[in-house]
Amino acid sequence: MAFNEEKQRQMEIRGGIGNRKVGVSQSLHHSFYPYPYLGAHACFNCQKSFKLSYEKEHICPDCGSKIYLMGRSFKALKRSHREQWKKVQKLYALGFRFHRYGEDYPPLPERLREVDRFVEQHPDHELQIAAPNRSLLPDEQ
Ligand SMILES: [Zn+2]
Repeated sequence: MAFNEEKQRQMEIRGGIGNRKVGVSQSLHHSFYPYPYLGAHACFNCQKSFKLSYEKEHICPDCGSKIYLMGRSFKALKRSHREQWKKVQKLYALGFRFHRYGEDYPPLPERLREVDRFVEQHPDHELQIAAPNRSLLPDEQ
């Protein structure tokens, strides 16, 4: 009986901490509970991102397309920010993965129209680690 009360109390404390602030609890969640580790995946078709486990491939829950693991330094984009989505899709198609943070490599371009020149200027960029997949290149109109 006493044990159950204590357990109940601990759960309430934990719940209380978890509910204090949604943004903070989500970012703390990973450091407290490393498994299952979630990574940002993107659906380029819907221009939406999802936090999902690394362990398997996923399809988009909205449209059923294949979605892509972007990496841990990928920042979620607003759905309305179409140019940024196309920029990210283009970088992905060219083999960039957002697998690490860093100040030891040239920052990625801000704009879609800067990507071609950026890639030319930085042929050995730290984040360009995968084989290009030109079928994923976005329509830039
Ligand atoms: Zn989708």
